[in-house]
Amino acid sequence: EVVVDATYGIVITEMNAQAERYYAAEHRKQEFQQRCFDDFRDKPAKTADGVALEVMANVATADEVLMAMAGGAEGVGLFRTEMLFMGRDSAPSEEEQFIEYKKAAEYAAGKPVIIRTFDIGGDKAVSYMNLTSEDNPFLGYRGARVYREYEGLLKNQLRAILRASVFGCLKIMIPMVSCLEEVTYVRSLLDRIKTELDVRSLAYDKSISLGIMVEVPSIVFVIGQLAGLVDFLSIGTNDLTQYFLAIDRGNERVSSLYQSRHPGLLGLIQKIVDDAHRHNLWVGMCGEMAGQVDHLPLLLGVGLDEVSVSIPAVAAIKARCADYDSRDCRTIFERAVSAKSAGQVDMILAERQREPVARPVIELNLIDLDAECINKEEAIQYASDILYYAHRTEKPAELEKDFWQRESVYSTGLGYGFAVPHCKTKAVCAHSICLMRLKRPIVWKSIDDKPVDIVIAMTIRDGETAGDTHMKIFSKLARHIMHDDFRGMLRSLQDKQAVLSYLQEKLAL
Ligand code: PEP
Ligand code: MG
Repeated sequence: EVVVDATYGIVITEMNAQAERYYAAEHRKQEFQQRCFDDFRDKPAKTADGVALEVMANVATADEVLMAMAGGAEGVGLFRTEMLFMGRDSAPSEEEQFIEYKKAAEYAAGKPVIIRTFDIGGDKAVSYMNLTSEDNPFLGYRGARVYREYEGLLKNQLRAILRASVFGCLKIMIPMVSCLEEVTYVRSLLDRIKTELDVRSLAYDKSISLGIMVEVPSIVFVIGQLAGLVDFLSIGTNDLTQYFLAIDRGNERVSSLYQSRHPGLLGLIQKIVDDAHRHNLWVGMCGEMAGQVDHLPLLLGVGLDEVSVSIPAVAAIKARCADYDSRDCRTIFERAVSAKSAGQVDMILAERQREPVARPVIELNLIDLDAECINKEEAIQYASDILYYAHRTEKPAELEKDFWQRESVYSTGLGYGFAVPHCKTKAVCAHSICLMRLKRPIVWKSIDDKPVDIVIAMTIRDGETAGDTHMKIFSKLARHIMHDDFRGMLRSLQDKQAVLSYLQEKLAL
């Protein structure tokens, strides 16, 4: 059993009981998150003012198309076909590909599936093509550039896609296009194959769409000339960012300069969308940037027709769209494009997230009278999770970090079996207190060295309105904890409602 934890960027190859408990808690959170999206999964994504954004999925196999549909995708915005070509000694046959694309079309049940013709070379090598190692593979022989030499492979793939196209709504997309000639070449090949199929009386979708990925900056400046040659564009921000900012996307030493929020890159994306629309071309985005919910105001603001994202992100993006007004997003985007740095864009986006939400400091769902934490780490994780389940934080991992930062300055075990972990944090939407009565006391390194059985976690929203709220509540709590009757009540009150009323009264909340 192996855990790949993308939140912390770690892989755990040997599990122990504590790690198992930790990941069980993480798993519960993920399931909860998916349940929260249930209402949005099967509806089209719309902003609060009714502007639609198509949300599609990126896949690498036909089976994933089925998962994408179950996840709420309105189609497949990018079918990376390289997986079919890699890890084997010879290229897949036309028949093998036909079966795969037919399955994809059928699974999508009439929804569009954009099949990208093979994008091999660069970081994706195959043994049966003569792709020798290069000094600058990302600037070398890859994507559409290899098509003339490997015309046989491309013809097989195009023929397979065309034959499968009668089983649904397939579209074809060319990767790594840097000039018009690459498009006219594929287009004429496609026309030749169509004629061949006509001669053989084989059916195919006669109006199948052909599009390109916008990944090489040069193509951005000839979108007008592309109109008539292609039917749609999809922005591949993974490569576009590396080529536009001159940052190898796989080189860790320059990864801090690989900035999706670079105002210059945002300006380039604006040009792509505006030029595409001026020439009546549909334009989507299928790079990683499209799937990051924090970017959503920018993506809505620039006016994309579609985003294509990883399958689990589909419902998350759909759910989030309803939180935004497209006109606000336009303003946010315009400010972002004229910002001085990516850091400033971050701040512009954070402002929107930081608007306070009116919520009582403590509620029933912030109280657990039977908490099962076995140590301090679990208690802090659990406190963050309670706030997550109560929709007060979307970033429990960040909140946990903020608790620990405070904890590292001094332990918050105030004695008498009470601990009051607390922090000022950007990760919550409202000042909050949660109370956990533990089934079994745990070690906290308290001032009196006694184990802790009552944890009162306090989070203060960092920002303009925080003021001295933090200290006021904290000192009131600390004073009450000195008294036997306060401690006794919190240990003996029978139900959550009684605990809630008691705390509200004592802390004057
Ligand atoms: C991209 O470059 O953004 C993209 C989607 O293609 P890939 O990541 O497969 O290169
Ligand atoms: Mg790419």
